[in-house]
Amino acid sequence: MELKEKVISTFADRFGGEGTLYASAGRINLIGEHTDYNGGFVFPGAIDKVIMADIRPNGTDKVRVYSIDINDYAEFGLNEADAPEASWARYIFGVCREILKRGGKVEGFDATFAGDVPLGAGLSSSAALESCFAFALNDLFNNNSIDKFELARIGQSTEHNYCGVNCGIMDQFASVMGKKDNLMRLDCRSMEFEYFPFKPEDHKLVLIDSRVKHELADSPYNKRRASCERVAKRLGIETLRDADMAMLDAVKTDITAEDYFRAKFVIEEKDRVLKVCDALVAGDYDTVGRCMYETHAGLSKDYEVSCEELDFLNDVAKECGVTGSRIMGGGFGGCTINLVKNELIPSFIETAKTRFNEKYGHEPKVYEVIISDGAHKITE
Ligand code: ADP
Ligand code: MG
Repeated sequence: MELKEKVISTFADRFGGEGTLYASAGRINLIGEHTDYNGGFVFPGAIDKVIMADIRPNGTDKVRVYSIDINDYAEFGLNEADAPEASWARYIFGVCREILKRGGKVEGFDATFAGDVPLGAGLSSSAALESCFAFALNDLFNNNSIDKFELARIGQSTEHNYCGVNCGIMDQFASVMGKKDNLMRLDCRSMEFEYFPFKPEDHKLVLIDSRVKHELADSPYNKRRASCERVAKRLGIETLRDADMAMLDAVKTDITAEDYFRAKFVIEEKDRVLKVCDALVAGDYDTVGRCMYETHAGLSKDYEVSCEELDFLNDVAKECGVTGSRIMGGGFGGCTINLVKNELIPSFIETAKTRFNEKYGHEPKVYEVIISDGAHKITE
């Protein structure tokens, strides 16, 4: 059954009648990896995979919500002490609480929801869930008086305060603000953002999910951050956003080789995002693709956050003549994002699946995505 029908008919069965339908999207990040905590740029977009919810105020002080995909029901109040047990419900409770904490209004409501954003595949299903409810509750109870950027912050605070995930703002930002055929360059220092056209007529974005996740013992993420902070400190600047390669080369002998290569990646990646934006304005998808390969090489060799499986998928993409390919996300597993010419898509997917399966004993999952609208209302 189609997502929309499923959400509506389940609402009718559970609660009777109908509510208002809302959706918000998962996201990709075309380029700009490990740049957020260095004050640089990220470049995400919302995708055509969403969480959709049917919602109706119920005149009580209780939230009653049914998760169709997990086949689970939760009922909770709106005070801090009322936090539900189920982790999926905590995302919704958290959004309610964060709106209330900001002086907004939330009263009891009934809701059913479902989605097609794959869970835990790096497409940010949790941000889609938070953003869907944040957008809906803003519309239903607050006359849309909370601005959209604040809705993203509400989702981010939900992850921090109710779900134990210390995430940045990118996922929720992309989910809320996404616009069809546009990517958004977010400046992680000023929080200013700008839309850039992404409408590759003869290419599509294909994600290949390796379904591996290497848990490394010595918190590589914190180590990367520490390297960046050390180099920034040595350069007398707040973040590597303000560094260039000449500055880095000038202190090369004072820092470790490891710190040097970490900082080199971050500086080059910042410039690559800007280059990709220019290329998109010019409709030059070959340059976009080249930059994606450069990002992969940098993440693999200089930043050292790749793994064998992701390097393998990157090599297969290259061999298949794919325009651009790179790791998406923090690394050590998860997806590659690939910019693929339309006519190559079937053979690339087939080759990637077969070759990966031969080598690693399981098939990767494949998702074709289209850059689409972020949070929105579907019905009155
Ligand atoms: P992701 O990278 O996809 O955001 P997370 O682990 O951050 O992965 O979030 C996944 C969690 O979000 C799920 O465990 C669940 O609690 C919630 N969630 C996401 N999608 C759905 C869905 N369709 N139905 C119910 N809960 C969902
Ligand atoms: Mg998440």
